[in-house]
Order: sequence, then C-alpha cells, then structure tokens
Amino acid sequence: MRYISTRGQAPILTFEEAMMTGLARDGGLYVPETVPTLSAEEIAAMAGKSYEEIAFQVMRPYVGDTFTDEEFESLIDKAYAGFGHAARAPLVQLGPNHFLLELFHGPTLAFKDFAMQLIGQMMQFALGRSGKRITIVGATSGDTGSAAIEAFRGLSNVDVFILFPHGRVSEVQRRQMTTPSEANVHALAVDGDFDDCQAALKDMFNDFDFREEVALAGVNSINWGRVLAQVVYYFSSAVSLGAPHRKVSFTVPTGNFGDIFAGYIAKKMGLPIEKLVVATNQNDILDRTLKTGIQKKEGVTPSISPSMDIQVSSNFERALFDAYGRDGAVVTQQMEDLKSKGEFTISQGAFDFLKATFDSGRASEEETSATITAQRTLTGEILCPHSAVGVKVAEEHLSDIPMITLATAHPAKFPAAVEAATGIYPTLPPRMSDLFEREERVTRVANDLSALQSLIRERRSR
Ligand SMILES: *Cc1c(COP(=O)(O)O)cnc(C)c1O
Repeated sequence: MRYISTRGQAPILTFEEAMMTGLARDGGLYVPETVPTLSAEEIAAMAGKSYEEIAFQVMRPYVGDTFTDEEFESLIDKAYAGFGHAARAPLVQLGPNHFLLELFHGPTLAFKDFAMQLIGQMMQFALGRSGKRITIVGATSGDTGSAAIEAFRGLSNVDVFILFPHGRVSEVQRRQMTTPSEANVHALAVDGDFDDCQAALKDMFNDFDFREEVALAGVNSINWGRVLAQVVYYFSSAVSLGAPHRKVSFTVPTGNFGDIFAGYIAKKMGLPIEKLVVATNQNDILDRTLKTGIQKKEGVTPSISPSMDIQVSSNFERALFDAYGRDGAVVTQQMEDLKSKGEFTISQGAFDFLKATFDSGRASEEETSATITAQRTLTGEILCPHSAVGVKVAEEHLSDIPMITLATAHPAKFPAAVEAATGIYPTLPPRMSDLFEREERVTRVANDLSALQSLIRERRSR
C-alpha cells in the first residue's frame, strides 16, 4: 500500500513513512493510493467479533508490510487494553432508530484515544526496530494533548512535549496532561492563547535545522494513522445494527473533518452508509460549505463545545481531493485561495460529489444546552456538549434508516456546561477519581520560539 499527497507534488510513501511524516512536503495530506474494499460476506463475518478483531480486519490492508499479522494484532491488543469498557465502543439507544456510539471510554475520556493509543503503539514499535528516537511536539486546546501524553508516556524511543495555553484549558484537561510522572512527558504551559501555541509549533516544523536536530514528529489530526484507526468503529457499530444487510447513517460532531472523513473511508471500503451528517456548533464553516458550495473563513467564537471551535478544517482537503477526481493541482489552487482570499468556491461537479455522501447541520449554544437537558429527561443519558451538538443535528435527519450519533467525550470532561444544563455535576469514572489528588508537573514558558526550542533541546533524552 502506497500513500500519495493531496497536492500531488510530494514523494510517495509507505504506511510507516506516512505515519512518521504527518504533513506532506508540498503542504498536502497523505491518502492511500487506492482504498481497499471488503465484500458483503467479509463485513457480515464481523458480526459477533471483538472490537480488536474487527480493527485488525479493517486496518490490515493499509499497513502493508510495516508489520506482520502477529505484530499488528499485538499492537492493537495493547492499544485498547487500557479502555474502561469491554466493548471499547458500545452502542446505546436514544429513541426509535437513533443510537449513540460511546467513544469516551478510553484513558482520557475522549474519542481521540482510539487513534492516539494505536499510533503510540505503532510508532514505538517502528522506532524500536530502527533504533531511532523522535520528539513529538503538539499544540492543544485540551483533548489532543491529553490523549497524546497518555499514549506516549513511558515509551522509550519518544519524548512528548505538549504546548497548551496557560489558564485556558479545563482543570480535568490540565491535570490529565500534568499528572503523568514519566520522564519522557513534558507539559508546557505557554503564556499565550491556543493560536500562539499552534503558531509556535508551525514555526518549529518550518525550522528545518531544528526539525532534523530533534527528529521532530507530529501527531495532529491530519496524520493518516489517526484517520485509519477511526474507520474501525464505523464498521463495528454498523455491523451490530445489521450491516451489511441493513444500511445505516451517521451523525458526527466535527470541527476538523477528521472523524467524519474516517466514516467516508468506511463507506468507500464497502460499508453500506446512506448519509454522513456533519454536525457543527456555532463555528459552522463546514455546515455553510455543505449548504452553499463556498468555503469561507469567519472568526472563531468560543463555545461550550471547545474541541470543535475551529476555523480551518484541515481534513476537508482529503474529501476535496476525491471530489475533484484526485486532481492535486485543483486542490492546491483552492487551498491557496482559502489562505490568501479567505474563501474558495467548489465546482458544481465536486459539490454534487460531496452532497451525494454528506449532509450537515449546526447547533447554537442554546440548542446544545437544551439537548443535554432533554436527553437527561427522555433517556437518562448525560451528554457532553460535543455529543449534544451531534444529537441535535441527528434529530433533524432521522429516517427509516438507523442513525448512529458519535458521542465524542465523557460528560465529566466538560462538567460546567453539563451541570448548567442538568443540575447534575458529572463525576469521573472510578479508575481516575484520584485525578485531583495526583501531583502536577508543568513548566511555564514564555510565548517565545527560541525559548521553547532551547527547552526542548535541553529536556529531550538522547
Ligand atoms: C477533537 C474533538 C472533536 C472534533 O474532532 P474532529 O477531528 O474535528 O472531527 C469533537 N469532540 C471532541 C470531544 C473532541 O475532542
């Protein structure tokens, strides 16, 4: 299996190389050269299998000869062993034909654990074999950083540095980043906001000497390894509702288009998905794009679902690449327009292509809150604000085809919004109830590139 860039000008890579590289050198994103398909019989045979067995079957064709079957099986087992639910991604029913896929039973209580835990195992294995070391640096508004730290803590060939805006993440998120005691974990509280953290990260990747010196690697949501791991739960949930004999639809609360793009890959692989519904909060660039065919940047307004407060949806580029018949030159042009003019218009043909699969909706702050309140009464389910955005939009798209809404975080990760809507303060699962007693370890840093770089040079192990 080979990987090509959405802009057509970067080297073609293997799975291992694409995972280690992240962003392609031409600024594009890596995608598989061809998407493997599974027959209806193969999908039907997944019924009754464990999450890990389905994960192996879905992902095996993508990793090529990076791992043997035995190696890959063992990496998958290790990745999900720390989850707090035997089903890994259990389904619960919300109403007639409406189901909730709980993706928050991982170690940091958000769906990002599904991808990050696996990528941690895969990278460590590949590095152990090559004897190389890498330095992972990430910027976070909360969930990505905690998931990355949890996935890489204690791994011997990796140092992980996470930049987060000082004073601007929730207490649960901060403690998940600052309480791991392993020496290879470095939580850095930057005196600035999330954009400053992201800008510093970008500057580090563009400083090629530094990049080489510390063997810089990234694990943000454009990494193909992350998208791939997310394809699995589309299969596992659809099969438990009767696929491939019965179609299903999904509603996905999304900002960066990462999670829902994994659903698109599942569909391309042969899973009978009727519609993939994009659910956005008030930062609704994706909903507007799918309604008008014009992608136009507007400012970000902070919301109660902060992990979806995004202006530029990086993974959308992957869908656009297919919509334009894999023409890298057109994608490059559109991405340049977005950067320079703040918008681009999708051609009618490409727009029709996208509309055949994707639908969309948005939830205001009031609607999100009201949905948390209503679900508490109607089903007893306590939703996090991101999942509530999904449920609200899904309710507008119900039909005779079963709808699965993705629940992306545990309510205890966003207790203030949940308490305001329900009067109930959501508690952490027992396995992490001592989070507030654990000792914190964090370094406060100025928002200054060279200070950050010196710190990373100094702290990383060799
Ligand atoms: C990251 C995140 C999202 C958005 O994920 P995308 O990759 O943008 O689809 C939604 N909900 C939660 C809780 C998240 O952490």
